[in-house]
Amino acid sequence: MPRSLEDNVDAYFDRAAAFSSHPRGLLDQIRACNGVYSFQFPVRHPDGRIEVVRAWRAEHSHHKLPAKGGIRYSAAVDESEVKALAALMTYKCAVVDVPFGGAKGAVRVDPRECGAEQLERITRRYVHELVRKNLIGPGVDVPAPDAGTGEREMAWVVDTYMALNPGQLDGMACVTGKPVTEGGIRGRKEATGRGLVYALGEVCAQAGDMAALGLSAGLDGKRVVVQGIGNVGYHAARFCRERGARVVAIAVREGAILDPKGLDEDAVVEHRTRTRSILDFPGATSIPRSADALELDCDVLIPAALENQLTGDNAPRIKARIVVEGANGPTTPEADEIFWRKGTLVVPDIYANAGGVVVSYFEWLKNLSHVGFGRLERRHQAASDLRLLHAIEQATGKPFTAAVRAVLVRPPDELGIVNSGLEETMVTAYQEIRETRQRQPAVQDLRTAAFLNAINKVARAYLELGIFP
Ligand code: NAD
Repeated sequence: MPRSLEDNVDAYFDRAAAFSSHPRGLLDQIRACNGVYSFQFPVRHPDGRIEVVRAWRAEHSHHKLPAKGGIRYSAAVDESEVKALAALMTYKCAVVDVPFGGAKGAVRVDPRECGAEQLERITRRYVHELVRKNLIGPGVDVPAPDAGTGEREMAWVVDTYMALNPGQLDGMACVTGKPVTEGGIRGRKEATGRGLVYALGEVCAQAGDMAALGLSAGLDGKRVVVQGIGNVGYHAARFCRERGARVVAIAVREGAILDPKGLDEDAVVEHRTRTRSILDFPGATSIPRSADALELDCDVLIPAALENQLTGDNAPRIKARIVVEGANGPTTPEADEIFWRKGTLVVPDIYANAGGVVVSYFEWLKNLSHVGFGRLERRHQAASDLRLLHAIEQATGKPFTAAVRAVLVRPPDELGIVNSGLEETMVTAYQEIRETRQRQPAVQDLRTAAFLNAINKVARAYLELGIFP
């Protein structure tokens, strides 16, 4: 019987915990899911039928508050999966120093089978239930989008929460991933894909590591295969292309397409929306069995769709030298072991796809401070830059051209600040992971090093609370 995502996450935890010196009780507490609320509610269909919908909110860890984690809409989700995803959130937040506990929510519904009205009813009902149980709030538990949900659903979440908590000053911080017009932050929608490409850029910048893989340093010219063209996959493909990599194949549910010259993700999405299939994209070769695309010849494979995609079965045939986990839990421990033996570099989910929660943290801060990033200092900074330019012009007797002036005087704007904060976070976290691997030579892979960093950071928080001697 295949192991569950929960088993896999626990296995990765145990593998890393063996390298720590924390007492068993503390490790057990870090690993355990603190609580999961399982509930169901009736929803009326447009045809009058009543359907009972299953839903969950798991809070894996409260070592820091609020707890944080997305809401997944999927026909296949179950309680074990929600708990595993909540655990991953705890470790992910710790790896990138986002001061939250881990949580996750889910509703068992296929969003492709529901109209917008139905989804809105389900979302609002779900939030009602969370409010009743104090499982949502700026200082308690803050959801975000995950597979099957996006900005639209988060707008319904905040609207419902605010209606039930009138006058709550910080109420907008009850959820992140909102549209910018509804208290969101610029750069959140694309943050997971952008963060993944910052991570990949940093991985590829290590010339020695790349040489060991038989690759040149840098992202430029790398051949990339992406699985999934939803929020994470689309933006990962876009930023890879913008940084000079070539997205040679894209795989989705109904199949995959291959073009060694490189694919344009916007054209692919437009084609798929228009024809209702990714297959038969002009100029590309169609691959009817989607999973075959994972085994194509490439430098980088980005699974950005589902869990358990790289298994003991297909891992021996995977040709990519680098696997960057856009999805949560795409690699089973059996595949991970095979990749290690083959020398494939796996950049683990708890680091690679953390960009979303990093920018969610910035959004939460913006909502709590009630002022957008850059608003206060924008003019002040521009005036200060201009004074400096004038002083240089006077000292040298040479005026700057308008073009140079425009480059040098760049007052901070929200998107620029968000992206630079995201890049700084991803680069710093990668350096920490590499340092752990170098400091503890027995820790050979990036996943174990990332888990070990997470365990140590969560352990420190518990020790500071004085809960463990
Ligand atoms: P999404 O719903 O926007 O997109 C999912 C994509 O996967 C779609 O393109 C779909 O066609 C594809 N897909 C579904 N089943 C497939 C199959 N059997 N084979 C191939 N492709 C398939 O979801 P998303 O938000 O992009 O999330 C994708 C993954 O990334 C999930 O594991 C999620 O937990 C993780 N993640 C998401 C975020 C975020 O900010 N949205 C953050 C971190 C991690």
